[in-house]
Amino acid sequence: MTSAESTSGTVAVIGAGIVGVSTALRLLRHGRDVVLVDRLEPGEGASFGNAGVLASSSIIPVTVPGLMTKVPSMLLDPLGPLYLRWSYLPRMAPWLLKYLGNATERGVRHVAANMAPLVADSLFEHLRLAEGTAAKARIKTVPYAFVFPDRAAFEADTLGWGLRKEHDIPWEVLEGDAVREAEPELAPKYGCLVRLAHQHGIIDVPGDYIKDLARAFADGGGRIVTAGVTGFLRDGERITGLATEAGDIDAETVVVAAGAWSARLLKTLGIDVPLETERGYHIELHGVSVKPNHAMMVADGKFVVTPMRNRLRLAGLVEFGGLDAPPSPAPVKTLMKRAEIIFPGLTYESTTDWLGHRPAVADSLPVMGPVDGHPGLVLAFGHHHVGLTSGPRTGRLIADQIVGRTPNVDLTPYDVKRFA
Ligand SMILES: Cc1cc2nc3c(=O)[nH]c(=O)nc-3n(C[C@H](O)[C@H](O)[C@H](O)COP(=O)(O)OP(=O)(O)OC[C@H]3O[C@@H](n4cnc5c(N)ncnc54)[C@H](O)[C@@H]3O)c2cc1C
Repeated sequence: MTSAESTSGTVAVIGAGIVGVSTALRLLRHGRDVVLVDRLEPGEGASFGNAGVLASSSIIPVTVPGLMTKVPSMLLDPLGPLYLRWSYLPRMAPWLLKYLGNATERGVRHVAANMAPLVADSLFEHLRLAEGTAAKARIKTVPYAFVFPDRAAFEADTLGWGLRKEHDIPWEVLEGDAVREAEPELAPKYGCLVRLAHQHGIIDVPGDYIKDLARAFADGGGRIVTAGVTGFLRDGERITGLATEAGDIDAETVVVAAGAWSARLLKTLGIDVPLETERGYHIELHGVSVKPNHAMMVADGKFVVTPMRNRLRLAGLVEFGGLDAPPSPAPVKTLMKRAEIIFPGLTYESTTDWLGHRPAVADSLPVMGPVDGHPGLVLAFGHHHVGLTSGPRTGRLIADQIVGRTPNVDLTPYDVKRFA
């Protein structure tokens, strides 16, 4: 038995986002007693407001070669994709140095090789997870595309598209009239649309999807506790449960799936993980006059436009500013302005906006698996920009590990000991 495997005792999962709910549901289906603990209702963290894309082609990290030289212009551009709360800079500096240190071709290749097994087949993984639940009807096979001003802008990213090719991710390039045919409402300034031919999909309102999955978990006998986790119960090095605001919970195994908040919890055990929040925003346009045929990554703005039930969601951008600062007005204004630029003549009845916290590990790979020296503890967090996509596969891998099956993806590259 490895330090993570348990025989038949209770498993407590901290965090009811896509990663925690997927893990909990999988464990329940293995016949385990599972308690899912979150201070909020399920699906209220980052998993609530993301762009909803099952992005099986998203294997390229933010940290690409040349990023550093682009940062100043990104920060100065009033419609740019990057925002910084300057007062937070000293606190995040150690993480930032590590993060930017990975912006090399070698770093990108390493991330691509180890993200590919987590995001590939994501549509299928979601369908399997959601089978027999109300959530299944929210999985739609909407195609995913990148839009660029012109072909040259698309071709400029030789490393990213080259790596997709190496990973057998196919695409087709549309230009001129073909773009207008594919997306009649898109502004003429976007002359190139790259449609990923690989299986893609969207989740039609991700927060509702997670709640449906959590309901299926509860209906199947899983327990949901709504309370903040304040620490771990221990017997020597062994983790024996959780301390929560609603009292202690005994468990044979504890899974930390607390997204961007995971490092705070692990600090109480003396485990240091270079994890930051990449704050991201969405706006939703309700009663909107356009309904695109694709979910679209608008490459010059670094945000995604997704058609969802009764609404259009624009989600993306990156702001550095920590977990506790309130939302900033500028990114929301940018998304509003961008909506009008990409869809001239756009009308809508009302809008809402949202700030969420992507769990961003300095090397752009998630942290998954057992922890040497802490029997009973399993980690499952840090899925950056693709946690919705990769959550169900992560849940399956982690559940397999816990019940003593060999996961069909080698978890070594995700082991927390890479930071030791
Ligand atoms: C703007 C934006 C767009 C995105 N678009 C996409 C996309 O299109 N496709 C994609 O695949 N991914 C996308 N992502 C990324 C994706 O949303 C995240 O990677 C994913 O939701 C992370 O899931 P999670 O379960 O790890 O974390 P979360 O959903 O954040 O869940 C963590 C949970 O832990 C709980 N928690 C934390 N600390 C405690 C505590 N002490 N006690 C109790 N509970 C606690 C929180 O309340 C929360 O519910 C996007 C993210 C953003 C911000």
